[in-house]
Amino acid sequence: MAVVGIDLGTTNTVVASVQGGRVQVLADDEGRRLLPSVVSFHPNGDVLVGYPAKERRLVDAKNTVASVKRLIGRAWATDEIDRARKRFAFELKEGPGQGPLVVARGQEYTLPEISAFVLTRARQIAEKALGEPVDRAVITVPASFNELQRAATKVAGRVAGLDVLRIINEPTAAALAYGLGRSTKERIAVYDFGGGTFDCTLLDLSGNVFEVLATAGDTFLGGDDLDAAIAERMAEAFLRAHRYDPRTDPQAFERLRVVAETVKMELSTIERTSIKLRELGFGVGGTHLELGFGMTRDEIERLAAPLVDRSFAVCQEALQIAQLPVTAFDKVILVGGSTRIPLVRRRVEQFFGTPPLDRVNADEVVAIGAAIQAAALTEVARRRSIPPPPAPRARRSSMPPPKRDSDDEVTMATRIPSRIAEHERAIAPGATRPSSPAVRPPAAAHGAPQVPPAPPTMPTATARLPSATSTLPLPGLRPSSPPPEDVGATIPTPLLYQDVVRAAAAAEAAPQTPILVDVTPRALVVETVGGWCDVVVQRNAKIPCERTRAFTTSSDNQTVVQVRVAQGEDALFRNNTFLGAVELVGLRAAPRGDVTIRTRFEVDESGTLKVFATDLGTGREAHALLQLVGIAATDTVEAMQARHAAARVS
Ligand code: AMP
Repeated sequence: MAVVGIDLGTTNTVVASVQGGRVQVLADDEGRRLLPSVVSFHPNGDVLVGYPAKERRLVDAKNTVASVKRLIGRAWATDEIDRARKRFAFELKEGPGQGPLVVARGQEYTLPEISAFVLTRARQIAEKALGEPVDRAVITVPASFNELQRAATKVAGRVAGLDVLRIINEPTAAALAYGLGRSTKERIAVYDFGGGTFDCTLLDLSGNVFEVLATAGDTFLGGDDLDAAIAERMAEAFLRAHRYDPRTDPQAFERLRVVAETVKMELSTIERTSIKLRELGFGVGGTHLELGFGMTRDEIERLAAPLVDRSFAVCQEALQIAQLPVTAFDKVILVGGSTRIPLVRRRVEQFFGTPPLDRVNADEVVAIGAAIQAAALTEVARRRSIPPPPAPRARRSSMPPPKRDSDDEVTMATRIPSRIAEHERAIAPGATRPSSPAVRPPAAAHGAPQVPPAPPTMPTATARLPSATSTLPLPGLRPSSPPPEDVGATIPTPLLYQDVVRAAAAAEAAPQTPILVDVTPRALVVETVGGWCDVVVQRNAKIPCERTRAFTTSSDNQTVVQVRVAQGEDALFRNNTFLGAVELVGLRAAPRGDVTIRTRFEVDESGTLKVFATDLGTGREAHALLQLVGIAATDTVEAMQARHAAARVS
């Protein structure tokens, strides 16, 4: 059974694996290493993925789904879904649990199911290339993805029959692929301009510790936007020539967008190009109308400039969060197909004042990093099955190990509308320290979370916070205790195409403790009286961390309370991304205000959020369940898996 790294992109998906000591990007039968993230439902019942689906898009846009990454994990009532409904020819409708559904050929699919088709095809390609079954994967997501988007991506992996070892951030994967930070301290910026999303992530790399300083992103900015802008130009030209607007026909406009992408890509290498598109419409007497269209590099750069400007506004935001000047970076890495645009490269160099690194193929760099991480995690698992070495020695490091971020732990009372009244008595900060066995719920103190694990069909009990995950070993350490729970890589930062197995063997000879320094790019908030927010976990808080809040009940004999949780920075709760309601049940029946509940939000090294609740009067524990929106409760993962297994994917 093999393990792979998958870059599940908006436009293209790439699968890579470490085999025989080398990182390989895996190709299909025709040698193609990019798998278009396009899914088409054929009238014969087949589900086409990749290039065949892209071709079907030209004749059957209504049943062909693209750019689903822009929509995954979003609730129905959001701007993004509204925009997508206007922009895409395929049909979207509201599903249960506020999640959008795709309607194709009379069937309804959740967005994770659509992504699962892409993952299944990637898996098929990998299995053929490797000659063995693939059952595990590390999948990458933009650093700016929120919890719901990550959870939905994980579900997609599971529906595709993959054990998702880890969801890692694309910039972290890119840095891994470049093997940066191994010998010297480096501060890097990752400029990731893909098909549908843009991200800027700032990292400190030192002695194999990767620390994310800040990340900012726009999940609706990418090469697709430039395609659309060029297609608009083409439509205007056609309208002028034939007095017919192809934008009124979704199928015709879809053809324009596909051709626009070709024009765009050509203009990355040549100065001028022209196309002829036949049968875009019909004139008097049914005559075929064709479009002749030409464009120069200068023209496309003028069209692209506003989009590129927007990318630097995001970079500025990241710099502001990190409180760093733009000159602070040793290296800038380019990621994503849109960084092939010459204007983008020039502007990146101007902005950061240094030529960006492009040694690794910008389309493949993320999948390569994911494959390295997948191999490393597999190695961790293998080592765990070996008895631990004796007598761990104190660890020494040039960088402090990631400690629980308890210094800025907050204990305060919060008012939750109608359900929980304001708590007047703050709990002494010391009493809430994670190390205090007196306050840690007994089950958690023994390593078993108090929150019951989610049933396999409901990815809800714990929630992974968006975070940039970086796990690398410290160099030159003595043998230490077995790796901590769920932390990462044990292979010393492999250089690209380095002999990873040899590196793993070296690590084996001198086992090293992985280090993970990570941040939450979005604040985690709860709703308070009047629809306002209380920030529980700050944006860019280092994890692991934990925060507590104290509440009292607001009505007599109240045995259940609900805490509504969202992600975002807006002061108004409704303007943030609603994650779900945490329900605390089994409270002591007592007069209002008499029951004090301490809730603890704990984010572990892998970014998983757990919610603990204790009735302080009795020490009795309450249960907490974070029900994520958008993951249809009625259409469970198991049901999706069953339907998926029955589909003919090719
Ligand atoms: P990604 O999401 O990283 O797969 O990037 C896909 C985006 O990169 C799409 O919008 C492509 O059209 C774009 N792209 C790929 N190659 C080029 C190129 N040579 N010039 C301009 N854009 C490109």
